[in-house]
Amino acid sequence: MTAKIIDGKAIAQEIRADLAKQVAKLTAQGRTPGLHVVLVGDNPASKVYVRSKQRACEEVGIASTVHRLAEETTQAELLDLIERLNADDRVHGILVQLPLPGHLNEEEVINAISPAKDVDGFHPINVGKLQTGTGGFVPCTPAGILELVKRTEVPIAGQNVVVIGRSNIVGKPVATLFLQENATVTICHSRTKDVAAEARRADILIAAVGRPKLVKKDWVKPGAVVIDVGINRVDGTIVGDVDFDEVKEVAGAITPVPGGVGPMTIAMLLKATVEAAAKA
Ligand code: NAD
Repeated sequence: MTAKIIDGKAIAQEIRADLAKQVAKLTAQGRTPGLHVVLVGDNPASKVYVRSKQRACEEVGIASTVHRLAEETTQAELLDLIERLNADDRVHGILVQLPLPGHLNEEEVINAISPAKDVDGFHPINVGKLQTGTGGFVPCTPAGILELVKRTEVPIAGQNVVVIGRSNIVGKPVATLFLQENATVTICHSRTKDVAAEARRADILIAAVGRPKLVKKDWVKPGAVVIDVGINRVDGTIVGDVDFDEVKEVAGAITPVPGGVGPMTIAMLLKATVEAAAKA
């Protein structure tokens, strides 16, 4: 058996086309959605991410502004910028690109963003709302994973979902989202006794670890849906957390890296910004 390849790039493109129509309507009402991205310092990967977010905004008509701040920016200067963006009606979404340089306090910065503009869904109020299922912004990668699975018409309710990884930005929120969809969810992490055995029980296996090709063929139940979140640079190429060539022989469906979860993350950021503008 060879798995169906889930084309995240094509699905993200469909979502962006729908969003472009919504943005055109909002713009006609004088309410062009505005996303402000704050980039501190010279982290090369962050620069690439910010550029692709900006390009995606332009494509759908969202007004995006990047605030590029020097590496030596102080906590007070950064908090002052966030305060100004919070107060500006033209700003619907605020995203602080992480990681911040070591001398800055990330937690304090995230807490300073207005929860109503926190399109990344990292503010504790939005984290709490996700836990209680009461709305709010959801982190973009987990939202993108759920959307990808739904659009692939994979059943979720009652299925065994196994998430490998328990980070605050992917593992924990994606587990919560699938729990809300009535899946039976298991979260594995670096201290799990036998990750492979847990993974083999999955109808939907989500790998968000950051270890190249960790998930092997014998970790996957025949016919399972495998979602690879990993982005690992190996010898100049990007590989996922799943050994794609092996696992595609046994899985029912699988996301490629690149071209799977990645494009969905950006599409969900745009969607959150449009929703914030529509509510403003
Ligand atoms: P993280 O380092 O914060 O968390 C990794 C998690 O994996 C931890 O909870 C840890 O306990 C667990 N882990 C580590 N080794 C393990 C092992 N051997 N077995 C089981 N669990 C293990 O990482 P993150 O921020 O959640 O990111 C995970 C991966 O997803 C990275 O490759 C990252 O680049 C990628 N990522 C991709 C996107 C996207 O848009 N596609 C977005 C965010 C992160």
